[in-house]
Amino acid sequence: MGEKVDVVIIGAGPSGCAAAHRLASIAPDIKIEILEARDRVGGRTMTIDLPCNRSGEVDQWDIGGQWVGASQTDVMQVIHDFHFETYPQPYKGTKFMQLGKSNKITTYSGIIPDMGGLWGALQMAFYLWKLERMCKKVSIADPFSSPVARELEGHTMASYSAKYLTNEAAYQSMDVAAKAVFGSNASSVSMLFFLAYANSSGGVSKLLESTPGSAQELPSGKTFEASYVISTLPPNLLLKVEFHPPLTKATRFVYENLPMGYYSKYIVVYDKAFWKDRGYSGEIVTNGGDGGGPLSVVFDATTCRGTPALVGFIAGSADVKYSQLSKDARKEAVVTALSKFLGDEALNPIHYEDKIWREDPYSGGCPSNHAQPGPLSNFKDVRLPFHRVHFAGTHTATEWNGYISGAIQAGKRAAVEVLHRFRPASISQELLKGTAYDPNPPMLPKGCHTCCVKPLLGCTLGILAVAIVIKIIYNSVGLA
Ligand SMILES: Cc1cc2nc3c(=O)[nH]c(=O)nc-3n(C[C@H](O)[C@H](O)[C@H](O)COP(=O)(O)OP(=O)(O)OC[C@H]3O[C@@H](n4cnc5c(N)ncnc54)[C@H](O)[C@@H]3O)c2cc1C
Repeated sequence: MGEKVDVVIIGAGPSGCAAAHRLASIAPDIKIEILEARDRVGGRTMTIDLPCNRSGEVDQWDIGGQWVGASQTDVMQVIHDFHFETYPQPYKGTKFMQLGKSNKITTYSGIIPDMGGLWGALQMAFYLWKLERMCKKVSIADPFSSPVARELEGHTMASYSAKYLTNEAAYQSMDVAAKAVFGSNASSVSMLFFLAYANSSGGVSKLLESTPGSAQELPSGKTFEASYVISTLPPNLLLKVEFHPPLTKATRFVYENLPMGYYSKYIVVYDKAFWKDRGYSGEIVTNGGDGGGPLSVVFDATTCRGTPALVGFIAGSADVKYSQLSKDARKEAVVTALSKFLGDEALNPIHYEDKIWREDPYSGGCPSNHAQPGPLSNFKDVRLPFHRVHFAGTHTATEWNGYISGAIQAGKRAAVEVLHRFRPASISQELLKGTAYDPNPPMLPKGCHTCCVKPLLGCTLGILAVAIVIKIIYNSVGLA
């Protein structure tokens, strides 16, 4: 027999910490054990120290989850409650774009990038308008129940976009978007899943806009006996856990079809923000150019202390290629590519750092799980309780699925489900909303009514460009 506790939470990422916090807030006397495989909390969020000058002083950057936006209510609440600091993402200045067959580098200053002329811009605007309308009909709670599910079921983001985007730059922008959002090429992301994912974030433009937005055995042999378990493991890792009795086929079916992205994040620290001196924002959107370079999206990563840096991602097929090289070779490839946009000063950084998330055994990729084309008929089972096991983690979120905010929402929801069974008197009907025990489950999440059409997708993809940078240092929360 192992140590007896009321609730075991697997994983001390944002979701596990949020679940623990909600359990402890509502029922302070219950005994909770959080099992974390790493020697740190935070999961796919991770703040690291890097040299910030030639004399060896250090500053801090996020090598995992970084940006948050005002519409991400769950993470904004945590920031407010725990007095975390945020600071705005620098975005002013000329931006670079390299899309289309010619791989020509173009610049733009406002929100409208050069999509190869008016025709490309019009195509993109129409396509985004169409996606916004379709997205409102696809709920992340059950994408397969959508009236557009049949039309989209076998489509990838690439195959569906090819039907509407004959302009090469506009078409390629969907690939950069898929890499930035999922760490995967557009040719392997289900279109139905993309729309459901976007809906959970309040709409396609909110996701892509560019302006400021049971017991578990431990290695030590220690075992726990718990009344309930909350798992926050991403699907790719959950499948490695042995369940007795085994998970239902429906749950395995959906979890087996949710791979993690191939995604590495790099931070390049410089003596000065030379790009700003030239009027550049530091923002780059590129198809990688001739020969498939490592860049996809790049942003200014100057810290709140003012240390100049750039941040970017090597994603999808590019990550497969570059993660096989040595770190020095990746650095060389990245700074050489940066210099083609921003000038030769890019070749001489103070420091280059990267993390290949696909090689991290306790994430197995990043930034989040996505669905490949095929039946999403069982997607609703992703958060269905299994006996005494409840599922959290950002992949189960109904708002901002895949993001830190979604992880928090899911953790809070799973905690309420457990309390509803363990301490029913402590849970109101209001708190039950959106849980497995909601007597009136909503057809669509809140976010789907707030969609708005922004003219262009390609400029800077993702909440990536929007936002407010946050230092979430969970150690200071004291939950682990
Ligand atoms: C490079 C990168 C950039 C990102 N950018 C952003 C961004 O800008 N904005 C944003 O909102 N989101 C971003 N994300 C996504 C965000 O970090 C995740 O959505 C969030 O961390 C998910 O939280 P989670 O708790 O669901 O899962 P995780 O953070 O993955 O936490 C799961 C925990 O489980 C632990 N674990 C794994 N296996 C076991 C086991 N067998 N036993 C016990 N514990 C185990 C892990 O160590 C981990 O601590 C990014 C992620 C990455 C990697």
